[in-house]
Amino acid sequence: MTRRAVSAAEASEQILASVERMPVERVPLSSALGAVLAEPVLARTSIPPWRGSSMDGYAVRASDITRLPCTLRVIGDVAAGREAPRAIKSGEAVRIMTGAPVPADADTVIRIEDTDGGSDFVEIRNARDARRNVRPLGEDFLKGDLLLDAGEYVSPAAIGVLSSSGIATVATYRQPTVSIVSSGDELVRIEGFDAVMSGNRIVSSNSYSLPAMVREAGGRPRDGGITRDDPLALRNAIEGAMACDLLITSGGVSVGDHDFTRSVMADMGVDIKFWRARIRPGGPIVFGVIDGRPWIGLPGNPVSAMVTFELFVRPAILKMLGETLIFPAVRAVTLDEHISLSGDLTHYLRVVLSQENGVQHARLTGTQSSGALTSMLRANALLIVPEGQRECHPGDRLCAIPLRDSVFRASTFPA
Ligand code: AMP
Ligand code: MG
Repeated sequence: MTRRAVSAAEASEQILASVERMPVERVPLSSALGAVLAEPVLARTSIPPWRGSSMDGYAVRASDITRLPCTLRVIGDVAAGREAPRAIKSGEAVRIMTGAPVPADADTVIRIEDTDGGSDFVEIRNARDARRNVRPLGEDFLKGDLLLDAGEYVSPAAIGVLSSSGIATVATYRQPTVSIVSSGDELVRIEGFDAVMSGNRIVSSNSYSLPAMVREAGGRPRDGGITRDDPLALRNAIEGAMACDLLITSGGVSVGDHDFTRSVMADMGVDIKFWRARIRPGGPIVFGVIDGRPWIGLPGNPVSAMVTFELFVRPAILKMLGETLIFPAVRAVTLDEHISLSGDLTHYLRVVLSQENGVQHARLTGTQSSGALTSMLRANALLIVPEGQRECHPGDRLCAIPLRDSVFRASTFPA
């Protein structure tokens, strides 16, 4: 174990070095949204599977409509889902609808508006569609084409393309199960709110916010319950939560008299990789491996828990899901206020970003106390103040981690 407090980057490196991609499972296409493909997918057929019309009109030969107006004999009609009549000869036409197969030897579909709409004979009045409106077989893709490669993300468009090629199931990396155990004598579930009202308890908000973050990141949260600050109770709870791919505990990792999580984990045989990072909030974070399973011990302070989740747990879950772009892309922002900080720590301050004349401006959400969870509620980004920087001034350029995609949204239609 590293004895000193690690930097944020070292903490991330250590955690990710002990986290592996999940095993592969085959899932129905319709449940694969957001998953990462574990194998390449080839087209089972060409799309479109036939030369199809992209207009409602008449399939003709361009060589027949060089002098206008002209009249052609209609030898049949064909709609989408029907079979094409025989090949047309010179002087003939087939009435055809969008999506229908174009008869052999026709190279043109004249839109209905450029004709008299006739049924036995049709008069063609305009030749602007000559050699147009016929979608070639395989225009989109050909049988055997690589549609998606291993490592690519299943988007709604991917689901559409794969379905059109008859791919009913896909091999993806399984979602990790993430157990969450919260500890603290003061904690109750919402159902125990009477105890909060009578004055000596708080709701274990981490028992609600952390599963939500796990779900948002693409993992499957598993409720490991709330346990008292008692080594035996804590050990029982953790043992009961071990059936998971990633173990998360909340609370009890600091230096207080009732912080037992590290000692209990040590008794259980954890290999602690680091304890404490040079960050605020979230300094007391601990990481280890127990029975081959990564364990991230988050501090109990609600803001610390959420910020350290964002920094360390989300990338770990994304790595388990097979993603390669696992870190948030930071954005350059301009600070709008003065900030004084203490300690040689990297600070992650809760800010609201707003766009003014194409520049992102950052303002603090208010109190930056690790206990004030509303600072996370209001924030749409975490401002990164690098280690050693104690003062920030209005106009300073810094980087921020977007927390929500609302950062990328606007109130007006994009023009
Ligand atoms: P700890 O990390 O156990 O020292 O707790 C630090 C602070 O976070 C204390 O004020 C706790 O009451 C609070 N806290 C700990 N666990 C939770 C939790 N699950 N939900 C909300 N607050 C918590
Ligand atoms: Mg505690």
